[in-house]
Amino acid sequence: MVKPKAVVFDLGKVLLHFDFAIAASNLAARCNRSARDLQELLDQSPLLHRYETGLITTERFFAECQRLSGFRGDLTEFGAIFADIFTPIDPIIHLHSDLRSRGVPTYIFSNTNPLAVGHIRRRFEFFEHFDGYIFSFEHGAMKPEPRLCEAVEHLSGCRGDGLLYIDDRSENVAAGRLRGWQTILHMRPPETIEAVRKTGLLA
Ligand SMILES: [Mg+2]
Repeated sequence: MVKPKAVVFDLGKVLLHFDFAIAASNLAARCNRSARDLQELLDQSPLLHRYETGLITTERFFAECQRLSGFRGDLTEFGAIFADIFTPIDPIIHLHSDLRSRGVPTYIFSNTNPLAVGHIRRRFEFFEHFDGYIFSFEHGAMKPEPRLCEAVEHLSGCRGDGLLYIDDRSENVAAGRLRGWQTILHMRPPETIEAVRKTGLLA
């Protein structure tokens, strides 16, 4: 096994847990719809997919959500509720700072949206300490599309087994493996940390 040159982290459910039910129940207090309906509107919905692919702006996403939900409030209020769904996964955040302290370049590779990124940047200090960020909405493509994987190689200047990629979704991991990346299918932090150790990066 070759020692990787850079480590690529998925964000959701690797570094941060998220739960759209939190946003749905907080939005429900200011809408004409039930929390359950609102969760359906947001979580894995075609509307969110368009937003995270960069096909619609934040203003348009908000306008659509407002139309479909009857939300009483402005974009600032909506954004604050919509994005406040994350909690840190401390062992993986520590793993990241461990890699940084050893001089290993690190990247964030995420299907996400501008409201979430703005919130995460303000709320979580670890988030600024990466060498680069590959966000779906900035590239008009979602993981596991090859085009977005290419963006990772382009930004990091690494390819093939020079990259170690950690993600909790098997279709994403498969896309990385297809390109020759070293991969870890994240399930629980102890196993992921052990798998990183085996690459020699923490020695
Ligand atoms: Mg994930």
